[in-house]
Amino acid sequence: MISKIIDEDLIQKAHRLLQKCNNIVLITHEHPDGDALGSALAMYDYLSGEGKRVNVLIPDEIPSFLQWMPGAASIVVYNQNPEIARSLLGQAELIMFLDLNSLERVGAMASFISQLTVHKVLIDHHNHQEKPLGHLEIRLPQIASTSELVFRYICRVGAFEKLSKDCAVCIYTGMMTDTGAFTYNSQSEEMYLIINQLILKGIDKDEIYKKVYGTYTESRMRLMGYVLYEKMEVLPEFQTAIITLSREELDRFEHQAGDTEGFVNLPLNMSNVRFSVFLREEDEIRISLRSEGDLSTTKIAADLFRGGGHTNASGATFRGSLAEALQIIKEALPKYLGAQKDESTASGEMPADLSTEPEDKKTESSE
Ligand code: 5GP
Ligand code: MN
Repeated sequence: MISKIIDEDLIQKAHRLLQKCNNIVLITHEHPDGDALGSALAMYDYLSGEGKRVNVLIPDEIPSFLQWMPGAASIVVYNQNPEIARSLLGQAELIMFLDLNSLERVGAMASFISQLTVHKVLIDHHNHQEKPLGHLEIRLPQIASTSELVFRYICRVGAFEKLSKDCAVCIYTGMMTDTGAFTYNSQSEEMYLIINQLILKGIDKDEIYKKVYGTYTESRMRLMGYVLYEKMEVLPEFQTAIITLSREELDRFEHQAGDTEGFVNLPLNMSNVRFSVFLREEDEIRISLRSEGDLSTTKIAADLFRGGGHTNASGATFRGSLAEALQIIKEALPKYLGAQKDESTASGEMPADLSTEPEDKKTESSE
């Protein structure tokens, strides 16, 4: 049995609102990942099937490894078509935000959207949210992906029978990518009951894995090798690894959107690393943080860069130089990962009592 984890009242209110509105725009965050696109495209498929006029609008381009997703070709990208995007927003009766915890994360559309007085609904699973984004919010940080929430929503409004294979593919993609292919945040038994249902809908999970993780271009593969061999700085005293990539380096490897996806997770494969930082120079400095255990990357991202995310995976944007961002991180390491000089660290083992999480954070839900 898959439990009814979303509040019934919220489900009914959202359902009534969606039934009432015909013109709907679905929005997710900039630099979209598999869960952002998975949740938005799954909702797109479901609502289109209900006869709604629905559009997915995203701030910037779809990474190459997600362009195959069902419905991706119909997405309107604000950076590429700002006038069409604004016209869609102007006509919308309802805007739904998916996988979004701050309006800043819709980039240049933010001020335009904040002025619109239409119905706004949010479905999300991030830890923190500065201000409410919707009049109606389905927010469950304990669920590993927004795509799983979309699945739960569709079932709860009695539409499981109508859930298409394409919709199932999108949901699975989001569930898979937000759990590193079910290697973290992936202990919930209900997750596997849901996957079972998606397989019954006809998805080919091995094929989805291959499309997302197994379609590197040669230059992307070489960039990964370069990053690991030449660019990864390991700081054993802080159980930390830091990778930086400048604009010039990204250009040298013919970087396309999404090419560096997953690189930040690689250093965590070392037994003596539990905090991984990846800084890259795009239009601004993009920061990705990953951790193991109860070390909260959400807190570090928020404290240092006004970013956010989940306990073990967060991100931020920094308006300054790569060197400045690096300096901020390095100066903060003693505070969050205080130097360990005992025997166990020297031999690569992790001391049991290394939690630097403040007491009040310990009750925060972990995904
Ligand atoms: P990534 O490192 O893959 O870009 O992001 C990891 C997680 O942090 C994702 O859940 C993403 O939504 C969140 N995140 C990334 N960048 C930002 C940001 O600039 N602000 C906030 N609040 N969250 C972010
Ligand atoms: Mn997500």
